[in-house]
Formats: sequence, structure tokens, C-alpha cells
Amino acid sequence: MSLLADYRKHTEERAKLGVPPLPLTAKQVVDLVELLKADKIEEEEYLLDLLNNNVPAGVDDAAYVKAAFLNAIVHEDAHSHVIDRMDAVKILGKMLGGFNVGPLIDGLRNRNVAIAQESADQLKNTILVYADFEVIKELMEHGNLFAKEVIESWANAEWFYNKPEMDKEITLTVYKIPGETNTDDLSPASEAFTRADIPLHANSFLVNRMDKPLETMAELKKKGHPLAYVGDVVGTGSSRKSGINSVQWHMGKDIDGIPGKRTGGVVIGSIIAPIFFNTAEDSGCIPIQAPVDKLETGDVITVKPFDGVIEKDGEVVSEFKIEPNTLPDEMRAGGRVPLIIGKGLTAKAREALGMDAGDIFMTPDIPEDNGKGFTLAQKMVGKACGIEGIKPGTYCEPIATTVGSQDTTGPMTRDEVKDLAALSFGADMVMQSFCHTAAYPKPSDIELQHTLPEFWTSRKGFILRPGDGVIHSWLNRLCLPDTVGTGGDSHTRFPIGISFPAGSGLVAFAGVTGMLPLTMPESVLVRFSGEMQPGITLRDMVNAIPHQAIKDGLLTVAKAGKKNIFSGRVLEIEGLEQLKCEQAFELSDASAERSAAACTVYLDKEPIIEYLESNIVLIEELINQGYEDKATLQRRADKMKEWIKNPELLKADPDAEYAAVIEINMNKITEPILACPNDPDDVKTLTEIHEAGLKTEIDEVFVGSCMTNIGLFRANAEVLRGEGAVKAKLWICPPTKMDEKTLQEEGYYSVFGMAGARTEIPGCSLCMGNQASVAQNAYVFSTSTRNFDNRLGKGSQVYLGSAELAAVVALKGKLPTATEYAEIVADKIKPEMTDEIYKYLNFNKVSKEELEAMVG
Ligand code: SF4
Repeated sequence: MSLLADYRKHTEERAKLGVPPLPLTAKQVVDLVELLKADKIEEEEYLLDLLNNNVPAGVDDAAYVKAAFLNAIVHEDAHSHVIDRMDAVKILGKMLGGFNVGPLIDGLRNRNVAIAQESADQLKNTILVYADFEVIKELMEHGNLFAKEVIESWANAEWFYNKPEMDKEITLTVYKIPGETNTDDLSPASEAFTRADIPLHANSFLVNRMDKPLETMAELKKKGHPLAYVGDVVGTGSSRKSGINSVQWHMGKDIDGIPGKRTGGVVIGSIIAPIFFNTAEDSGCIPIQAPVDKLETGDVITVKPFDGVIEKDGEVVSEFKIEPNTLPDEMRAGGRVPLIIGKGLTAKAREALGMDAGDIFMTPDIPEDNGKGFTLAQKMVGKACGIEGIKPGTYCEPIATTVGSQDTTGPMTRDEVKDLAALSFGADMVMQSFCHTAAYPKPSDIELQHTLPEFWTSRKGFILRPGDGVIHSWLNRLCLPDTVGTGGDSHTRFPIGISFPAGSGLVAFAGVTGMLPLTMPESVLVRFSGEMQPGITLRDMVNAIPHQAIKDGLLTVAKAGKKNIFSGRVLEIEGLEQLKCEQAFELSDASAERSAAACTVYLDKEPIIEYLESNIVLIEELINQGYEDKATLQRRADKMKEWIKNPELLKADPDAEYAAVIEINMNKITEPILACPNDPDDVKTLTEIHEAGLKTEIDEVFVGSCMTNIGLFRANAEVLRGEGAVKAKLWICPPTKMDEKTLQEEGYYSVFGMAGARTEIPGCSLCMGNQASVAQNAYVFSTSTRNFDNRLGKGSQVYLGSAELAAVVALKGKLPTATEYAEIVADKIKPEMTDEIYKYLNFNKVSKEELEAMVG
């Protein structure tokens, strides 16, 4: 079949799903180019429309073919009856950056003045030029007047002024989603494989949450206004940008010449989760934190952003403060990310012309200095900005040293990198994992597993392989102390240093530029004291944090009027300095469930040195075994060695200020604490659960996820040892292949076998819910991170707790009483066994052969 017949058929099939056709591939653009070059062109309007509007921009392969064709027309090496040389330059100008920039720079040198002028005019509105700025500057310095015009235009920010200002009044129809919506409601994990196909993925928007959401939105749009997404608590949970993509697909506007993607939109929430807020800002969607109790589905409202009011029928029904103060500039530029890139270009252009910095853009508000000291997080971010510390509320751009991406957000990160027109990563370490799709890959996952490695390593990133294990269990091993990073997974929360997880747009931006835009959040200090009691685990300390916060009146479980002191703040933990880094990650990982922006755990030097010494050996073995990019990996190992030579750690100042201080006396925690179905904030002790009369029979038990490490599997197995088959279905999934192989070598897999456990390949497994899942409506006990509705399986009701308790639950088929638990664990895990059980993977302490086997 011909390209046109094929594509029409594809368009019809997609129309049945209510979505536009996929953008053209490079191969299809090759065919299209041949049709456009033909002497006799049929359906020229349709062909031109395809070329103009259905080819991805940036550095996509299809954009490469398109740019090469247009460049050939400009140089009269190719001809088309329907595209003349000037048309070709104009079409090149709409391609945003990347493969179109070279041809446009060539155009500046063209002897045809009209071509040169048009090329300059198109470049003036192109900001994704990166190193090509220097090429244009050099042309200017050699007397090219068109190049000078371009630099002057950038210096005067015409790219910015040519865009309309943010509207002073926006009329919208409300679509209200009461209570809390997490990003899984907006972008279900079960549909993760469609996330890169924004329109198709948007078909799953809210389907598990609302009754007929697509039909409701279609009906509401008949009122003639765009929709506003309104909710009490919006965007908690995962960092996935696909949530915002779906909001924008249904509620935003088209982008001229860019297929399958939209911008704009308005989200109004009494609380908007911080990562979601930032992702909205980055994408050009206006996030407004305002009371929503007087807003209902179907209301026609007028939002006046500069006045900070929402009106209904002429009456003010809600008030807000526009945050950040630079939001109008962000929205005018098309989002925070294009604003930062454009501002950087304008600054460079002004410098090249010897101009001062100017006052073109709004400057971020700077909070008053109260003379107090800095917290640990504020010092880490300050160090990454080259100063002592950053006070809360200050906008800053720290160096992003370590950046992670996982496979369900990876395709979007890849597409964002393409949209940023970047051919290399600027961050020191950018890692990609395949943990979310390893176990039961769909055809689209397999394709990703085959295509993403080349994309990543060609930009000097580090790529893992399917079956290697969970993103965080690897990324943590690449971290440098007291540095800043980010990742396209909401659990990117380093045990050493600090990470501000983000959506794929910001992750791509940080990966490409090596910098992270950040408004420094306030901090909440959690200070542990006393001694951990027998049978009590670190997971109980994780759950002790919300347990104590509820007691202190700083956290409520109810969604309406929800109070959450951690939301958007940095959770800083002190009092557990001797923890191993693997243990510290259990605490930092769970800060995602608190909706915290980030987490720090203050550790002593010794565990950090021990961790780095082990990680250096692991990294060098990865290089030996052919992992790419070798130079990137070696550079990271060398930086670790460098740090160990002079191991200095930052520490919070004694007079640092916190939004709250929560004291937890470990002497008083004498029984396990669990998160109850289905809310990670709804924490109760075993006794409280029994007293509340909650259902305690458990159908399935999952031991796995990034919350686990090898010690927890040993502990679980020791409880199971000698007890025969378990009563609840038991799932075992170690976080990495090194854990799996070590547990097999140590004979623990035979214990799991005797218990009748189902073992899964290392990765996210049930925790992600997009691979295997528990039975419908099952009651589950899990060691994983979160228990949002439907995450582990449709209708599942999930308790979250420790691996030790998981073993007892599996054996009994129900939650034990606190006394039963204490007796069983005391009997099975004797004090003299704990050093061997809770022993971590020290790669520098195994033989060469063992190391090869673990990593191979
Ligand atoms: S194990 Fe769960 S929380 Fe951790 S990275 Fe995988 S899906 Fe996310």
C-alpha cells in the first residue's frame, strides 16, 4: 500500500479511538518527500499539511529527513512544485530547534538576500540553539549583518515579546474531581505503555476514578469554553508528566506545527502536589492553589490571575496568590522550561553585544534574610549553586549531578530530549533503567528496550538492561555525597545528597543542561532518639513519621481540608547517623508518600565511605562487562575516589529553621506500624488495627520494590524457614540481580521455594501494577512503597509494612496481634543472627569471580 493509502487507513483507525494519527516516522517522511518532489503531485494540500503539521520537531529522525529535504530545496539541490525556497525556510523555522538550526544558519550566508533575511527572521524566534549560538556569534563577528540581526533580536528578547502576554481574564468551565486525585488517576500505571502516545494515553484519563470522564468532558465543552481541572488535592503520588500531558490534551490548546501534543490548560486545587505543580509550570499549564469548595462541575468561571480571584456569576468565589511571582513570564514563554532556556539565550546575546543584563524578565522574589543558619538540604543546594546555602522561597538553579529515568517515563523523557533538540547530555551522570517493564514486557516495551539504549548512550548516558533491577537501587549507587539530582520517578530520593524528583520534561531539561530550576522549599525536621526496640524494623520507623505527625496535629488522614506538614517541603532526618546507606534509603524513599519535595538523611562518614568503596568496585565491573557509557561510568567512579580522599560532609547549622520539628522516641515504638488500606498516611499499630476492627485476613503478600534490600529478604526467609507452605499467596521480587544471585547462592531461594512463593525477576513487579498483579479485590500485605487504589491490582486493599511482618502474615494468612508477631520474630531472628542477616552488598569484599557472576 502507498504512503497515502496507509496513512489514511491509520488515520481512520485512530479516529475510531477518538485520537489523531501518530506523527510520521522517518521512513514515512522519506516517502512523503518523494511524493512532494514528483513532477505531478496529487493531493498537494494533504501532502503539505502532513509535512507542515505531522512531523515531530527537534532531533527526531523524522525531523532530520524533513530538515534535509527543506535544506536541499533552499540550496536548489531538490525541487518541489509546491514548496519554493522561501516556503522551505519558513517551514524550517517552525521546527523549534535541532536539525533545522544548521540549515537556517546556512541561510544567513545565502547570497539571495531574501533567503538570508527570512532565515534570520526564523532564527530570531528559535531558542533551542545551544552551541550553535557560538556559530552565529562568529558569523556576526565576521561581518554577517543577518547574524547580527539575530543576536540583537535575542538580546532584546523578541522571541519573548512576540508571544502574547498571559491572559488577564480566562473563562473556563469547571470539571471538578472531588477529594484527592493522584497521578495514577490521571495516567494509570496499567496504561503506561501508551504514555508516549499522548492522545491515546489521554483516553485512560480518570477512567478508574470518575464515571464516564471522556463523555462528561465532551458534554462540558459544549458550553464553548476550555475546561479547568479542579480538585481538593491534585497530583499526589508519582512524578509522571503523562498526568499533565493528559490534562493538557483534554483542556489545553494545539501547538502550531507540533503533532500529538498540546500546551496551556488551568489546574485549580486547594492543594497541588509540588512535583505536579512544577510539571504544570514547565509545560505551560497554569497551576492555581485556591480554595475550591464553591466550585462545582459545570460552573462557568472567570479566572483573573493578576487579581488573584476566581469569579462565578460576577461574584468572587475564591482568592489566591499567583505563585511563583514569575508565572506570567513563564506562561508567556510557553512554560518555565522555555523561559529558562530563552532567558539564558538572551543573557548570552546581551553579553556578546556588550549590553548590561537589562530588566526584560520578572525577577523571582527573594525572601528576607532572617540571619538564621541553614538546614542540611539548604546547604546541599547552596553548594550546588556555589554558595553557602539557599533560604526557603529563593529561586535557584543548582547543578544537577545525577539524573535518573525509568522505562515507563523514559519514552517521554526521550521525546522531551528530542523536543529540546539536544544531541548530548550536559549532566555528569544520566541513567536509564528498565525496571518497570522487565517482567512481562508488551511489544511496545520490547521495542523501547531495543531502541532506547542507542539514544541514551549516543548522548553519553548510562543505560541498564532489563532484569538488572529497580532504578533507585542502582541510581543510589551512583550518587555523590552532598550533591543535587533529580529523576523521572517520584521515588528518586537519594540516601546521600538530595534529589528533587520531577516529571519527564524537567528530567530531560536537567539531563540536557545539567541544571535544575528550583524554588527552595522549607524543611521539616524529624529527629529520632532512643534505641530501636527488639522486633522493630526500619519500616516501622518509616511509618512512625506520619504516625507521630498525626499525633502532633501536623497531618490528617481525611482528604477534605487535609493537613499535611510534609507536602512540598523537604523532610530532613536526624538521629540515625549510623544507618547504612541502603537503610537510609528506606526513609528517604518513603518521603514520596508524604508528598515531600525531597529528603535528606544525615549520616556519619563511615557508612558513606563504606557505600562508595563498594560502589566504585561495582561501577568498574560494569565497565568490564560492557555497560555504556564507559567514560561516564569511569568519571563517576573517579569522583567517588576523589571524595573518599577528603571525606567532608555538610551538616545543618544548630540555629537552622524548620517549618516543624517532629520528635520520635524509638524507645516508645514497641510494635509494628502499618499503613492501612488504601492510604499511605493512614498509619496504625497492629494493636490499633485490631481494635479498630479492620479486616485482617490477607490473601496475598508481596515482598519487593525499591523499599527492600538484601537484608530484608534474608530476614523474611529466616521467619519462613522450616514452616512449610505459607497460607497467603507469597510473591518475592528482589530489587536487583545482585540481590537475587546472592540470595540464591546463600540458599534463601530454597526457603522461598519450600514456602511456595512465586519469585519474580528483579524489578518493580507488583509495586508498579502494570505487569503481574494481585487478584481482583484481594486483601494484600506489601513491603512496597504505596497503596493507592488499584495500584497492585484492581480493587486491591493493601497494608504496607516490613518484610519481617510480611513473613508472619504469609504464614498465618492474616495480620498477627502485636504479641504473636513479637514472639515469632524473637524466636526466628535471634540477636546473634542479625549481623549476618542485615549484611549489605559490599562488592569490594567479594572475590573477582563472585563479582563477575553477580553483575554478569
Ligand atoms: S519499586 Fe515501585 S516505587 Fe520503586 S521504582 Fe518501582 S514502581 Fe516505583
